[in-house]
Amino acid sequence: MNLLAFFIRKALGGYIHPMNRPNTELPRKIEQERRIAVIGSGLAGLTAAITLARRGFQVTLFEKNAYLGGKIGAWPTHLPQGETQFVEHGFHAFFRHYYNLNNFLDSLGLRKTFRSIQDYQILALNGSQYRFTGVSKTPVLNLLSMRKTGVYHWGDILKNPRLAGLAAMLAFHPEKTFEKFDDVSYQTWSESLGLPPSMRLMFNSFSRAFFATPDRMSTAELLKSFHSFFLSHDGGLIYDYPTGDYETVFLAPLRLELNRLGVKVRLQTPVTELRQSQTNEGGGFVVNNEEFHQVVVASDAASTKALMSQNPWLEHSQFRQSLNSLRSSQGYAVLRVWLDSPVDPGADQLCDFIITEHQQILDSITFYHRFEPTAQQWAKKTGGNVLEFHSYALPDGLEESAVTKTFWNEACGYLPQLAQTHLVHSELQVKKDFTALHTGLYRDRPGVVTPFPGLFFAGDWVKLPRPAMLMEAAATAGLLAANSILSGYQLCEEALFSVPPKGVL
Ligand SMILES: Cc1cc2nc3c(=O)[nH]c(=O)nc-3n(C[C@H](O)[C@H](O)[C@H](O)COP(=O)(O)OP(=O)(O)OC[C@H]3O[C@@H](n4cnc5c(N)ncnc54)[C@H](O)[C@@H]3O)c2cc1C
Repeated sequence: MNLLAFFIRKALGGYIHPMNRPNTELPRKIEQERRIAVIGSGLAGLTAAITLARRGFQVTLFEKNAYLGGKIGAWPTHLPQGETQFVEHGFHAFFRHYYNLNNFLDSLGLRKTFRSIQDYQILALNGSQYRFTGVSKTPVLNLLSMRKTGVYHWGDILKNPRLAGLAAMLAFHPEKTFEKFDDVSYQTWSESLGLPPSMRLMFNSFSRAFFATPDRMSTAELLKSFHSFFLSHDGGLIYDYPTGDYETVFLAPLRLELNRLGVKVRLQTPVTELRQSQTNEGGGFVVNNEEFHQVVVASDAASTKALMSQNPWLEHSQFRQSLNSLRSSQGYAVLRVWLDSPVDPGADQLCDFIITEHQQILDSITFYHRFEPTAQQWAKKTGGNVLEFHSYALPDGLEESAVTKTFWNEACGYLPQLAQTHLVHSELQVKKDFTALHTGLYRDRPGVVTPFPGLFFAGDWVKLPRPAMLMEAAATAGLLAANSILSGYQLCEEALFSVPPKGVL
């Protein structure tokens, strides 16, 4: 097996691939006064803003919300007994192959509170569950050893030659995969393969984590996700997660760093005006009436489309077409609940974060009272529990008022004690700001560099030269935008890395 693992690693060219070769002879800091506007303070905006400010640029960060962080932001919620706790947009998994994000977080010491999930656990409605601790971490061998979990049997493959189509997972190619599969929905692809039920359950769970129902999810994006998360590195499916609320773990230290670097942070300041400067005095762009030399637009996909959907940007026909590909996915929901009595069967039975078989909305459950200090203290004091439910793709037409009840009813199927408890407090978010990874959108997706010199895009929706998704895509795009600006001034770029660009086949 060791020899096989050696050859697989070799076939992939190693697991960590440099994306650029920074010229370390070049200066690191800018000498002139150069003003940069960064629009949006999610991970993409933060990585761009902090990287450029560290290199001596004068950065202004515009954010429409009252808090930093975008989808890793946090805000206070007030419990009936008077306590205040922070809630986030939702539990996030930080994978070990998020090379650029992890390097950025490490540069600020932000991974110190992280702990590793015990297992990747999927619960089925019939009471069975799939766990992946024993699965090999070597790409390809992990697929073979997954047989031990019961997800598939050799008989399934021998009886159904159509399953040979799964080889597309191992043959990921940045262009060919999209040419062949971007117009095919995951549902159509999985039906054409005749996946056995347990494999379908696993693939469905994976696909929904990208905020799209199977009938809309692009098969090419899903194949990219299999490649990025499972078949291109030896980190396995195990990931890390912060053991504090995101205000304490991320936002407070990030604010300190922005402050130390002199970044002007404008919260509650939506950018409504972005245009090229007519005067060219001191800058190339006007953002909310201020002049800047360069701009990084790091707002979410739909907000970016709205901001850019005015002349003269739209006069550029190719650019107009690429803006058209930017859409929000279906709505998603996150519900944090404070319960008056325990429902948790214990960490020996269920991991801190579990994936559930989809019925109508419930996709995952997180046991916050186990690891988040304020939730832990509250649970200790009251004898209750603090949980979070996620739905990554709400059915169209489901009323917001029905979301809490539907979560509750479905969760009772996995946590029977829930039916006996009462809600002390809850915090519900129903949003529609996630990038659509739907069929047919990839071809026109814009990249970091736009046709307008000095204007860059960053976010998890940007087309990248290497496979990366979700938070790693956001951080990589932000750093690529920063690198484009650095190289424009003949400054040394930041070193960036990725998983192997292509699959093993
Ligand atoms: C519930 C949930 C769970 C998730 N779980 C995971 C996970 O486990 N692992 C993972 O890798 N990823 C996960 N993600 C995805 C991850 O959060 C995102 O991919 C990433 O944070 C996106 O960062 P971003 O900077 O591209 O965008 P965003 O975080 O959306 O940031 C964009 C920012 O722009 C601001 N903005 C928009 N318009 C304007 C304007 N006109 N002016 C000024 N500001 C503006 C917004 O307010 C926002 O702050 C999850 C997301 C959600 C919602």
